[in-house]
Amino acid sequence: MLLRRRTVTVRVGDILVGSDHPIVVQSMTNTDTADAETTARQVRELAQAGSELVRVTVNTEAAAEAVPEISRRLSDQGISVPLIGDFHYNGHILLKRYPECARILAKYRINPGNVGMGKHRDKNFQQMIDVALENGKPVRIGVNWGSLDQYLLARLMDANATLPDPEPANEVVLQAMVESAVESASQAEEFGLGHDQIILSAKVSSAPDLISVYRALGARCDYPLHWGLTEAGIGSRGIVASTAGMAVLLQEGIGDTIRVSLTPRPGGNRAEEVLVAQQILQSLGLRSFVPQVSACPGCGRTTSSFFQELAERIQGHLTGAMSSWASLYPGVEKLRVAVMGCIVNGPGESKHADIGISLPGTGEDPKAPVYVDGRHFTTLKGPGIAEDFIRILEDYVKQRYGN
Ligand code: SF4
Repeated sequence: MLLRRRTVTVRVGDILVGSDHPIVVQSMTNTDTADAETTARQVRELAQAGSELVRVTVNTEAAAEAVPEISRRLSDQGISVPLIGDFHYNGHILLKRYPECARILAKYRINPGNVGMGKHRDKNFQQMIDVALENGKPVRIGVNWGSLDQYLLARLMDANATLPDPEPANEVVLQAMVESAVESASQAEEFGLGHDQIILSAKVSSAPDLISVYRALGARCDYPLHWGLTEAGIGSRGIVASTAGMAVLLQEGIGDTIRVSLTPRPGGNRAEEVLVAQQILQSLGLRSFVPQVSACPGCGRTTSSFFQELAERIQGHLTGAMSSWASLYPGVEKLRVAVMGCIVNGPGESKHADIGISLPGTGEDPKAPVYVDGRHFTTLKGPGIAEDFIRILEDYVKQRYGN
């Protein structure tokens, strides 16, 4: 049983983050927030994919003005996912000038590296905290190494240079990120924000740096941590890099809310980042979102693609069915299904699953034994194997999870 790092609980809309609450999946839109219709549509898609918090860029007056309209459109469609505003450079102005935007957002993300320079920095930061206080909102103090507080970094670099054995520059940058997050959180509390209204993040773009910076952050404070690899990349590179960093930290109980920052391919599905985040949590046994299909990789014993098609079809069927199953059949998200390609591991793996099918490999008798709760249930054959198996699967779900 994994022990989570002890943190305070922060309420973001109606979602609880931190302590022993489930690790929250969040995502971010990539639409122009000023385009309320398109942004609301993407927020809905992300929420329907399972994103429990959705962040939108609030970078211009038009974007701040559009936030209430986005919220109204979502609410008209029955979508209640909390919206988070992502502010850089001008957040203090926008939050003050657009009180309805400030009221509707469930959390403000503040980047302490770009709230202002010199004496303006503290004033602008305080102005954002004041708005959070007036509206009873939490903030995420989100440090990013691409926009790190340059004064703080220079201070730490200077101090490091005087050491007899100075640290490598990259180490100092990571320390500066931790310092920036922790110092800004203390300052927010001095300005009146509650200890339980602060979430921290310090995002970097390499998995080893992510692990190092979050271990340090986790040891320094008990604020909930939001994390993910920033600029993780496109496709499998982004998925693997994010998973590598997240798996280590999650296994150490560090992390309360996560985002997988994938760069979608042109025209790609933004919701993929939500599905990957869910899959990471489910693979580590931390949360369950959708029934899992175990499928063997196939080998020379499976010269047809039938079992690959069946595995894909079943996973698609399960994912599609979850929109109605989730309320009809509580617990169904923990269901384990196996689709195996031949007799070598097929029956064994199928018996370990709740329900499994072992398809015939090349040269094997064209029969597919089905196992339910570890026991042989029936043997399918003929052209309707896929349909027959899905029927057995649906009956099993009804019987096991219904009522
Ligand atoms: S179960 Fe059979 S088909 Fe699948 S990988 Fe193993 S030997 Fe190959």
